[in-house]
Amino acid sequence: MKLVIAMMKHETNTFSPVPTPLGRFGPSGPYFGKAAYEAFKGTGTPMAAFIDLAGAEGADIVTPVAAEAYPSGVVHRDAYQRITDAICEEVAKGCDAVMLDLHGAMVAETTDDGEGTLLERIRGLAPGIPIAVALDLHTNLTDRMVRNCTAMVGYKTYPHVDMYDAGRHAGAIVLRAMKGEARPVMAWGNRPVLAQTLRMGTSDSPMKELVAAARAAERRECLAATVFGGFPLADIPEAGVSCVVVTDGDDEGARFVRDRLLNAAWEHRTDFQYRSEPLADSIARAKALAEGPVLLIDHADNCASGGTQDTMTVVAEVMRQGLTDVAVGAICDPEAVERMIGAGVGARVTLPLGGKVDLPSIGRKGSPLTVTGTVRVLSDGEFTVRGPMYTGVRTFLGHTAVLDTGAVEFVVVSRHHEPWDLGVFRSVGIEPTAKRYLLLKSRIHYRAGFLPIAKHIVECAGEGVTSSDMKLFQFRKVRRPIVPLDASVSV
Ligand SMILES: [Zn+2]
Repeated sequence: MKLVIAMMKHETNTFSPVPTPLGRFGPSGPYFGKAAYEAFKGTGTPMAAFIDLAGAEGADIVTPVAAEAYPSGVVHRDAYQRITDAICEEVAKGCDAVMLDLHGAMVAETTDDGEGTLLERIRGLAPGIPIAVALDLHTNLTDRMVRNCTAMVGYKTYPHVDMYDAGRHAGAIVLRAMKGEARPVMAWGNRPVLAQTLRMGTSDSPMKELVAAARAAERRECLAATVFGGFPLADIPEAGVSCVVVTDGDDEGARFVRDRLLNAAWEHRTDFQYRSEPLADSIARAKALAEGPVLLIDHADNCASGGTQDTMTVVAEVMRQGLTDVAVGAICDPEAVERMIGAGVGARVTLPLGGKVDLPSIGRKGSPLTVTGTVRVLSDGEFTVRGPMYTGVRTFLGHTAVLDTGAVEFVVVSRHHEPWDLGVFRSVGIEPTAKRYLLLKSRIHYRAGFLPIAKHIVECAGEGVTSSDMKLFQFRKVRRPIVPLDASVSV
């Protein structure tokens, strides 16, 4: 038995100014062939789960590509072509099944439905071939995706700490189908709700209840059930809340469970909307908290949703109000890092930090903050994740520097990285548990590594292309009417 196992992951923020060439899909582009296997075997990813399942079956494993890029703008045409060609060329050689570790919200220059287009092409090459798909909780599900695979399972956690489990779940269903032990059928649907990422944490309502309902259905009625929060900043027709249910040959049962889950999600449509407080109030509230670490969550500029990771609004307010003992993880500013490398450890520098990238989709110019401090650390920015999310995966921040103003220690990196692991600080000699404030450019994933050490959490509404103020964005393609863009929406 030969299995083709591959990864293609990108959450596309169509409002992001950050480009998405092939080189973004890995430390120096995607991992191809054996390198894909070596990079992800034994990690907490669906790709690793597929490899383990195939290994247990004694299958021949082929891994044409593993490509994952930090969220950013629309995927460049040649990048999409190169990654999908790698998978399809291997399928065309002949195989018994395909297992794909996908995101579910990829938009490329040539298609609004990156995953659906790939799956349709695979099915065109190998009609009827069993295909297992693992998807992110932020998937914008499409009919083309569902029609062109055998079984799909999405993550049930955000932060995504069950990636491996989702892969194992999807892969096991397809292996059972190949042995004639199950006949998977799927039903999917959506509701007109653009849920906000900040309201999708699975330890909070409403996702907590919706995931519990999906798990209950899996125990009693179906092979798999997934509720997707969706990714609202991919402006495609299908963006928003959706659901897919896999049953063993029971079409009607699949539709029944799907409708129950979607109706429950629709009931919660207003709970999926986030309300922010004025930034100055948030920082003042944080200043009054006696015990640290206090997490300051700069959620409007989360690079794992397409943010530039260089807006300085929240940092500027923290400095204006005089907070001290702050560590910032992290500002992405390769220019500033190069300046600090040139100056050397111990040098005193004054430089424009952050604000290098304009944000035309929300009408903002990049606005650096002039900062004076001492260069404390220079590093290659590499570490291996020890926390619960992406466990074991090697992480590359690019050239990295720590700039210390006395009150604020900035980790300044050259590649985007959302701080969901303590390694972002520890790899450069900052002990996060010892800091009063940790300013994190993150939305929910910080919870994976930082919630256990946090005394308080203060969400801070800064500026950026991952803002929760949906009025900032000019939606053109998403189906209308939809909550919260339209006043009157019904189903
Ligand atoms: Zn996600």
